[in-house]
Amino acid sequence: MAKERSDIGLIGLAVMGQNLALNIADHGFQISVYNRTTEKTEKFVAENPDTPGGLVATTTLKAFAASLARPRKAIILVQAGRPTDAVIDGLCEVFEPGDIIIDGGNALWTDTIRREKALKEKGFLFIGSGVSGGEEGARFGPSLMPGGDRDAFKHLEPIWKAIAAKVDKTTGKPLLGAAPGKPVKGGVPCTTYIGENGAGHYVKMVHNGIEYGDMQMICEAYDLMKGLLGLKPAEMGAIFSDWNEGVLDSFLIEITADILKQKDPVTKKPLVDIVLDTAGQKGTGKWTSVNALDMGVAAPTIAESVFSRCLSAIKEERVAASKILKGPKLEKLSPSPAKKKALIEAIRDALYCSKICSYAQGFQLMRQAQDEFGWKLNFGKIAQIWRGGCIIRAAFLQKITEAYAANPRLANLLLDPYFNKTIQAAQTNWRKVVSLAAENGIPVPTFASALAYYDGYRSARLPANLLQAQRDYFGAHTYERTDEKRGRFFHIDWPDPA
Ligand code: NAP
Repeated sequence: MAKERSDIGLIGLAVMGQNLALNIADHGFQISVYNRTTEKTEKFVAENPDTPGGLVATTTLKAFAASLARPRKAIILVQAGRPTDAVIDGLCEVFEPGDIIIDGGNALWTDTIRREKALKEKGFLFIGSGVSGGEEGARFGPSLMPGGDRDAFKHLEPIWKAIAAKVDKTTGKPLLGAAPGKPVKGGVPCTTYIGENGAGHYVKMVHNGIEYGDMQMICEAYDLMKGLLGLKPAEMGAIFSDWNEGVLDSFLIEITADILKQKDPVTKKPLVDIVLDTAGQKGTGKWTSVNALDMGVAAPTIAESVFSRCLSAIKEERVAASKILKGPKLEKLSPSPAKKKALIEAIRDALYCSKICSYAQGFQLMRQAQDEFGWKLNFGKIAQIWRGGCIIRAAFLQKITEAYAANPRLANLLLDPYFNKTIQAAQTNWRKVVSLAAENGIPVPTFASALAYYDGYRSARLPANLLQAQRDYFGAHTYERTDEKRGRFFHIDWPDPA
């Protein structure tokens, strides 16, 4: 029987909103729904009459507010930016102080900080929650990254824990329900309170930046196997399936194997060969990279993955340039079966080492951001809630969880004994692959930038001595000396006759 008041409400019935509302209703919570275009609300509720919790259609924001138990809780899942502000303004007119507004969209974290502050002044509580996993995640278990008012989150927590993806307590592997849509029994929910104001949306943004990196790295591994060994998509699909059984076990490797095995329904050729080589982007990778530059944190691998999409987008220009700009002639190698196997393994090692560096950069960003924005982030917990539900879910995240559990103050993931040992064992292969790529003119921006990051981070002395001298020469920017205490600055009139 329907409750007099719903447990929670949701505004925005596009793909994410519909799926999250069904997930919430599947877990026994009654949910009121509202969409700007009323027909969508009515159609959605009519099409889903038998959910365990129940869906309640509302056609005005006033009716939406009246239908909710207090303190009211409303999840917004509309387009980020102005539409989100418009919905918040509407809610402020019908909600009362103490009510809770949750933005589940991909908001820029600085917008979340601004909104939380403005809403607090009006007496409303605000949570900005990252929701990862796309439509499938929203429907059957996303990774949820809530930030904002801690007390307000207590009201949301039972729902967030119920609907989040679940992973096995010891292995960290995602758990599945008895059937699609059936709630998972037990397991650790992929959600945790992230921190104050914009912390949840910030961590979701870095997640997306890491996702950009993971995707581009996989593309580089594919391009190398295709370019150097002439492997066909189905053969590479089998290799990715094999990799998915080892340290690279992850959602993105799994779907890459599926993609490479897929035939075009029209031509029956491998579909991947027919897909045009231009990639779009919605902005979160760019935000991550811009923020890295703003904070002065090196995140070159994530940034290179964004630039790779930019370069991919100028297809016509590249086609024209390909007729003018010459590189080395790509000689397909014809190695013995043993050498072929060794090269494929080297590419896998290069991918794994680059991935470690990319994640190290993402965690360095979060470390700096917590200082800049006054958050207290728990990196082990963040890695933990990314183990299930989200696009970057991977067995490897268990290793990051363990690294931060062993040392919550770890200065850089690269310094963790497991990751250090892994790179020690695999770096010869990594270097070989990057060299082979350069010799053969195959672009591997993320593999190469990750290697440069690794070599830069482990260098006790970089050539920045010369750089700082150049700065002092033309701009009197001063320099510190190796034979003096840090913090003492010197300048000479270049070129000095001495
Ligand atoms: P979307 O295409 O981003 O947004 C469409 C929804 O926004 C519709 O319900 C639309 O209502 C509503 N809307 C647009 N402008 C509005 C306004 N001015 N006032 C009120 N409502 C307005 O939907 P989505 O793809 O489901 O994504 C929702 C949010 O989740 C976004 O912030 C997105 O970035 C984030 N997200 C998406 C994914 C994904 O895989 N799609 C994954 C993670 C996060 P009408 O029906 O009336 O037009």
